[in-house]
Amino acid sequence: MRRKLVIGNWKMNGSRAANTILLAGIKAGLGDARADTAVCVPAPYLAQCQAELTGSAIAWGSQDVSAHASGAYTGEISAAMLLDFASKFAIVGHSERRSYHQESSALVAQKALAGVNAGLVPVVCVGETLQEREAGKTADVVGEQLDAVLEVLSAEQLAKIVLAYEPVWAIGTGKTATPEMAQEVHALLRARVAKKDAAAAAGMQILYGGSMKPENAKELLAQPDIDGGLIGGAALKAADFLAIIAAA
Ligand code: PEP
Repeated sequence: MRRKLVIGNWKMNGSRAANTILLAGIKAGLGDARADTAVCVPAPYLAQCQAELTGSAIAWGSQDVSAHASGAYTGEISAAMLLDFASKFAIVGHSERRSYHQESSALVAQKALAGVNAGLVPVVCVGETLQEREAGKTADVVGEQLDAVLEVLSAEQLAKIVLAYEPVWAIGTGKTATPEMAQEVHALLRARVAKKDAAAAAGMQILYGGSMKPENAKELLAQPDIDGGLIGGAALKAADFLAIIAAA
């Protein structure tokens, strides 16, 4: 039985003062939620998360990680640095990084490898654009993105990652994949992982992301292969984030 996992992706939002209010609100409302919970925050706020979330049921992490361990890589942040602040998760391959920073599937796979080797849980994002969906290419696109990761991770390493299906056309747009559309892709992704390792596939948490909100979370999270959510906009309001966690 896979545990449900709900991760907030704050993107480039927040301030020390606003974060304190948001984190306090989430902590206060979490109760004994059944789902595992985390927030992936801008790197400068990892220390704040460590200070304000240690001892709570909420884990934290980053929105990216370098494929390199250390050295002359200006602006990059290594897995070891993230672990210095007790980070658990590192999102890799978010569509905003793939499109605005030209990150290839091969680079995303190297980032996942660096993360898992260091002891982080990479949250590997895959997803198709609207144009790709309309051209009937969804399976090919997410398949290529996943295959890059399957090529470089061993079965043992695969068992330590989280996958997130995030249709690009649904991110921040208010458009959500129907539960059936999302389930279809999640099942396809799990089957593709199973070809490499059945046990890793059976245990892998595959999250849905793309305009998930309190009103649609329950139906999405009821699908057999949807193991949680990666939440953008709705993770910035404690009440909305808590409602999604409660639905999981
Ligand atoms: C995301 O950025 O990962 C995301 C799913 O955003 P939103 O929930 O705002 O669509």
